Amino acid sequence: RWDGEAEIDYVFKVVVVGDSAVGKTQLLARFTRDEFALDSKSTIGVEFQTRTLTLHRKRVKAQIWDTAGQERYRAVTSAYYRGALGAMVVYDVTRRATFEHVARWVEELRAHADGSTVVALIGNKADMPPERREVAADEAARLAEEQGLFFSEASALTGDNVERAFLTLLEEVFAVVS
Ligand code: GDP
Repeated sequence: RWDGEAEIDYVFKVVVVGDSAVGKTQLLARFTRDEFALDSKSTIGVEFQTRTLTLHRKRVKAQIWDTAGQERYRAVTSAYYRGALGAMVVYDVTRRATFEHVARWVEELRAHADGSTVVALIGNKADMPPERREVAADEAARLAEEQGLFFSEASALTGDNVERAFLTLLEEVFAVVS
């Protein structure tokens, strides 16, 4: 084998959920390929993307799952959640309704995923101008605290906080499994 195929110590399945068009696919593209695809639905039908990284001297393959549009029909299946060690619940800071649905996504996660799944709340599109904002960061931070979730705003477009949010989540998963 060549070095790029160094042995994998862990595979972490992470699922990304949230309302349609909050930027799930773009967050995933940013983290796994460092790109923001203008043709945003190019990944439709693709179940997951991976990125391998080193955490505490272990090779960790992060397998990040995308709903590929299933959420439009409220048809995210239990197979999607099965075995997920981490989850990101994403809302769009410029669309209040997407934030109001966060509790529902968290419930769905708790119902389908494992009790020990680490969950992060992500307010995406933080790059948008302040006058477009419909959810304040401190309000989301409060909700996250109540629900026991890690919270960050991020922008898949600029890349702000995306790497950090995924890495924090993966570190927490690592702490749970190792
Ligand atoms: P999904 O349905 O949740 O997977 O959402 P997509 O990733 O397809 O993104 C939905 C729309 O929001 C697309 O038009 C994206 O270009 C746009 N979008 C995604 N992330 C961002 C972001 O961070 N900032 C801005 N301004 N637009 C974004």
